[in-house]
Amino acid sequence: MSELTRRDVLKLAGLGGAALVLPASLASASGGESVGAPPLAASMLYDATICTGCKACMSACNTTNQLEPDTRLSDGLYQMPVDLNSRTKNIIKLYSDPSGSYSFVKRQCMHCLDPACVAGCPFHALEKNRDQGVVTWDGSKCIGCRYCEIACPYQIPKFEWDKFNPRIVKCEFCYEQRLKDGRQPGCTSACPTGAVIYGTRENMLAEARRRIASRPGQYYKDRVYGETEGGGTQVFYLSRVPFSKLGLPTLSEESNPHYATKVSSRIYGWLAGPAVVFAVLFGAINRNWKHHEADRREHEAEGRLPEQL
Ligand code: SF4
Ligand code: SF4
Ligand code: SF4
Repeated sequence: MSELTRRDVLKLAGLGGAALVLPASLASASGGESVGAPPLAASMLYDATICTGCKACMSACNTTNQLEPDTRLSDGLYQMPVDLNSRTKNIIKLYSDPSGSYSFVKRQCMHCLDPACVAGCPFHALEKNRDQGVVTWDGSKCIGCRYCEIACPYQIPKFEWDKFNPRIVKCEFCYEQRLKDGRQPGCTSACPTGAVIYGTRENMLAEARRRIASRPGQYYKDRVYGETEGGGTQVFYLSRVPFSKLGLPTLSEESNPHYATKVSSRIYGWLAGPAVVFAVLFGAINRNWKHHEADRREHEAEGRLPEQL
């Protein structure tokens, strides 16, 4: 009998197997209550209006995380990824439009208060740690199903397609490398302008509000992205241009896991839970699945799929 590969598992899940697997894990960290941040929640504030696009944070991230710089598009000359990938946990991108308006944007894991990646992982390989709310990945529990990739509303986790034993790669807030020793992350320590800074969630939110108050009319709708989006995140954004232009999705105040848990707890009373939970999440899963499949096709076309997939 042929062996069940990671891809077989993924296909089965996509075709409905998820209805059997997901409900066991697709529980909000809150169990249905709204999720708060731990008092010492590690947090980052990125202010796009003062980012110069120097990319010092990107180099610092690779150095701190011992990631080989992605120089594939520059013939090995310099780091030049086009998006987050298995060698890039942090990226600076540029938004510009024909009117001449532009803005840089830093992208990395948002460390959601109620993370869909944690809820979506059937094997608890991702977890949100209790002390600082950092979302970390445990390779010893991961089977490579990539549910986390599909569940994440920000398309953050990336898969090491070119490795024999692939890992899920995403920003883990430099927890092992720096945070647990009381040091700030690589990216915030390297930023020369203060565009990205580190502190507790409470302090970062206060600093964001202080900046908005001190520069009236300079920030989009005087809003802090991440305060409530998708149930709230531990990474905040300030911007002059609409957040959607920077690739930050418009999300409701309720996290997907929270919504799914709430609906399923009602529906379980009618004994129809698994199918309905899957249906509730189908929209989000379907949207993310398209990105995920495009990613897979790209790697297939490049002949970079490892044997075991
Ligand atoms: S941004 Fe995505 S990967 Fe990061 S914690 Fe949220 S759901 Fe998980
Ligand atoms: S916190 Fe660490 S892993 Fe995350 S983007 Fe910054 S340097 Fe990279
Ligand atoms: S180091 Fe600071 S100014 Fe430079 S690209 Fe990163 S966030 Fe922007």
